[in-house]
Amino acid sequence: MEKVYRSIQKSVKDIAQKSYRNNLVAGTSGNVSFYDRDHEVMAITASNLDYEIMETEDIVLMKLDGEILYNRDIHKPSSEWQMHAEIYKGLENVNSVIHTHSPRATSFAVVHQDIPLILVEMLPFLGGDIPRAKFALPGTDALGKSAVAALQERNACLLENHGVVAVGSTVEQAYIRAVYVEDAATIYHYARQVGHPVIVSEKDQEKMKEKYKR
Ligand SMILES: [Zn+2]
Repeated sequence: MEKVYRSIQKSVKDIAQKSYRNNLVAGTSGNVSFYDRDHEVMAITASNLDYEIMETEDIVLMKLDGEILYNRDIHKPSSEWQMHAEIYKGLENVNSVIHTHSPRATSFAVVHQDIPLILVEMLPFLGGDIPRAKFALPGTDALGKSAVAALQERNACLLENHGVVAVGSTVEQAYIRAVYVEDAATIYHYARQVGHPVIVSEKDQEKMKEKYKR
């Protein structure tokens, strides 16, 4: 069956390596998945695998209940597979999830601060500000439920004391959103060094929402 999924596995692998090259993750942390809703198959990065040696065939195929369909006979799925599964169960329009520990955004997750809507790009790409998902233990479905609650009407959130989750309809879209999270966190961080960041006014937010709807 894995032959059918080669192109999906390849895009998951490519984006995982891109997130490593662009410093959104360090070591073997972070994970990427795509969910084929028609066949109910999730393609997800393997646990504890070096990004630099990762191959297309290393991407695990599994069901959302944990049943492994393909793992190259050696791999365990990412330790956060339950978080990914909960997001797919809870958010019907999401087909890809990326989890990073990108450092500037994660620093806001560590001090339990949301990133407010300080940049115009945040509205179309992220759906608004970047809220926090309440703390839950890593590797649990509770973490996924917490993320689902934060991702209502948003495309990305912070995981308290942990990192970032971004979602999309494709792996490329989820990735770009994860990049925008780190970009917004970086600019917000610098803006606080030079003065008091001004949040986009409610009135202008509403006008922009109307514009992007069209
Ligand atoms: Zn993590």
